[in-house]
Amino acid sequence: MDSSYDVGLGNYDSIIRNVANKDSIKFWESQAHNIHWFEKWHTALEWNPPFARWFVGGKTNAAYNALDVITQKKPDKKAIIWEGENGEERILTYADLLQEVSKLANALKKLGVKKGDRVTIYLPMVPELIISLLACARIGAIHTVIFSGFSAKSIRDRIDDSKSKIVITADGGRRRGTVIKLKDIVDDAIKNLDFVEHVIILEHTHNDVKFTNKDKRWDELVGPMDVCCESEMLDSTHPLYILYTSGTTGKPKGVLHGTGGYLTHVFSTFKWIFDIKDSDVYFCTADIGWVTGHSYVVYGPLMHGATQVIYEGSLDYPTPARIWNLVSKYGITILYTTPTALRMFMKNGDDIPNSNNLSSLRLLGTVGEPINPKVWKWYFETIGKKRCPIVDTWWQTETGGAIISTVPGLETIPLKPGSAAKPVPGIHLSVVDDNGNKVKSDSKGYLVIENQWPGMLLTLWGDDEKYKAVYWSKYKNKYYAGDYAMMDTDGYMWLLGRADDVLKVAGHRLGTIELESTLVSHKSVAEAAVCGVPHEVKGESIIAFVVLKSGLLSDAQLKEDLIQHIRKTIGPIATPDKLYFVEKLPKTRSGKIMRRLLKAITQNEITGDVSTIEDEASIDEIKKAIAELSQTLKS
Ligand code: ATP
Ligand code: MG
Repeated sequence: MDSSYDVGLGNYDSIIRNVANKDSIKFWESQAHNIHWFEKWHTALEWNPPFARWFVGGKTNAAYNALDVITQKKPDKKAIIWEGENGEERILTYADLLQEVSKLANALKKLGVKKGDRVTIYLPMVPELIISLLACARIGAIHTVIFSGFSAKSIRDRIDDSKSKIVITADGGRRRGTVIKLKDIVDDAIKNLDFVEHVIILEHTHNDVKFTNKDKRWDELVGPMDVCCESEMLDSTHPLYILYTSGTTGKPKGVLHGTGGYLTHVFSTFKWIFDIKDSDVYFCTADIGWVTGHSYVVYGPLMHGATQVIYEGSLDYPTPARIWNLVSKYGITILYTTPTALRMFMKNGDDIPNSNNLSSLRLLGTVGEPINPKVWKWYFETIGKKRCPIVDTWWQTETGGAIISTVPGLETIPLKPGSAAKPVPGIHLSVVDDNGNKVKSDSKGYLVIENQWPGMLLTLWGDDEKYKAVYWSKYKNKYYAGDYAMMDTDGYMWLLGRADDVLKVAGHRLGTIELESTLVSHKSVAEAAVCGVPHEVKGESIIAFVVLKSGLLSDAQLKEDLIQHIRKTIGPIATPDKLYFVEKLPKTRSGKIMRRLLKAITQNEITGDVSTIEDEASIDEIKKAIAELSQTLKS
């Protein structure tokens, strides 16, 4: 192991690991005492496979835990430091947040929202987004947040699926200097959806909006409301939210999360992973439209009374230095972002971060995709100056909170660039073959979770059968994560990409990330994606798509160099049959590479759901690259 990455925070707590290994249910029960309960549970876990219900009989409330608990102790502590894309600033203390949440909760009640009703939230990254989630939680309404970049059709599908009574939106949101007219999009989305009773509109960008008789202006509705609103005492198993997955592998799934178990998981993992201190300034770049935003922007940090920066716009707007300007301006100590964002920062060169003061940083995190070792090292060296541990957190919308990660708040272990390290306490994982048998160390297989954990989804909204089929039909009593992985001899986990994307070339199984990371390790490459297409002899042949670093031009020599680089690093088996240079890769709006789309385009068929693609132009660009290459081959 390379000891140069052994930076730790050093408050080792072996007791937690020991207890967790002995009896994970008892362990999670001990963790549940850290959150506030109006009434204690009688049963820690009811497990009617594959449905888990945690802390049954207990009564709690997510908004109470996120606001009242802290406000009683530190009302003036800053909860949110908000910066708009245009530079505007707002600060909200815990007391401010509690007051605003209570007012909106009262307004929702006035509109007839009851416990269990769904409320769709389609807002930009403004404090009112957090306020809306918590107002729902306070009265037991189920929130369902839709990322504010989605189109009318995507919103309509989700609102129709959840049958939301209320939609909360804004006149507009800022993205890269332009105003996206959110209210107009909502009007389009809810046409003829009669079950939507009201739309609440926050005035944010001050563009003109057309009002209908369903519409309520936020200020007029919420302004006069009482500043107190009792939290509902909700069953631990009461649904807190529905959230649709990113759509990387197919049609987004409506994941349903409960309350007491979810909060326990998020509370514990936030503390272990981010080692949160009262003095920290935390910044997670995820949009609240994704699960990372729910767990580690809203519930996790607020339950711990953290101060966090919320930023409205693009991290590279108006200049690529924006992210680093935020770090130095606010003295950010913990930065949690994604590999896709890091690859973009890296592509822009080192001068930009180097000309900003990043000395406040003490802990760095990543989530969403496997991080290429080269990108990890850049994060560690150029951003963290070799001082800051990196937490690579593997988890899913379905898992509610982190499942694999180093836990600097508990223990210091050596870091390995590109590995997410070990399961967090209370989680038992395996890597298995098609028959469910554990594979040997250093062998590839499918990642499964062996035990139940408190953050696990209740089901898929309105579709228990699909829930059973997607996660529980491949193996008996093991949660099938759908990711391909390897555990090394030290017990470290290496995530190798989506199980559906695994390449089978001449009897060998290759994970997409192994090939992509090898391409990215070449000095000219910024990003890469690979997919397999059927091949008569080999079973599958490898097709690679490469984005070069800024300013570099593609040529036949570079293509040959890259192919040789893969042959030398992995072996001739991994030689791509075709390699295309492109300007951008198709990604989901949450920034993940959509390999299934690459495969479909290469085979000249686009099937399945493409509603979550970020930029449709990337499809055309790839089609063009493929056509040009086949033209060159013919001539
Ligand atoms: P869909 O389920 O609709 O295809 P999705 O799986 O991308 O979308 P999410 O729940 O947002 O939706 O993402 C979870 C997935 O992201 C994981 O299954 C895994 O493939 C990937 N992932 C998340 N964090 C990491 C990480 N740290 N390392 C490797 N992969 C990660
Ligand atoms: Mg998924």
